[in-house]
Amino acid sequence: MRIIAATQNSHKIEELNAITKDFGMELVSMKEAGLGSLEIEENGTTFEENSFIKAKAITDLTGELAIADDSGLEVDALSGAPGVHSARFAGGHGNDAANRQKVLQLLQNVPDEKRTARFVCVITLVRPDGTKLAARGTVEGRITEEELGDGGFGYDCIFMPDGFDVTFAQMDADQKNRMSHRARALAILREEWRKEGL
Ligand code: IMP
Repeated sequence: MRIIAATQNSHKIEELNAITKDFGMELVSMKEAGLGSLEIEENGTTFEENSFIKAKAITDLTGELAIADDSGLEVDALSGAPGVHSARFAGGHGNDAANRQKVLQLLQNVPDEKRTARFVCVITLVRPDGTKLAARGTVEGRITEEELGDGGFGYDCIFMPDGFDVTFAQMDADQKNRMSHRARALAILREEWRKEGL
């Protein structure tokens, strides 16, 4: 049996593939499933809603199993923003540098102890009958005062996970990927899947 991944991002497909393989399932991209041009509007207000919307859209169209993730950064001093708007916080979609500058600017006079934040990732698997299996992974940390490091992507260079004195962008990719919100959500989903089955 196969599962369609609701993403065009090859890195995410690789990560998701690691767990679907464990369960003897074949993971295929939207492109491979003939859905390369499908645009899905993410109009939910939570990570849970958005990952469900993405996976459900594919299941509705194809009648097959689908898996989707939604992720972002929550900053406590900004009441949880950028949250589900992480990719487009500063306006245009995916302008990482502008998004980071906006966060740093909004936190300009916020002291260290109030710069707490977390990365969140929710992964949802939707079955052809519309039911779902969902898992949320988080990693707690704080927002630095400036950009540090040049690895990673998105908000990595302004996020320092608890227990470390380097940002995600200063870690090697393997170390970040092992402890990331996405890795944690995947581990929880794997457990749920094992318990419930498909
Ligand atoms: P999406 O889940 O691909 O829509 O990602 C939403 C946005 O959250 C991305 O564009 C990034 O800005 C941010 N984001 C999600 N995960 C990470 C991460 O691991 N590091 C840095 N930024 C992230």
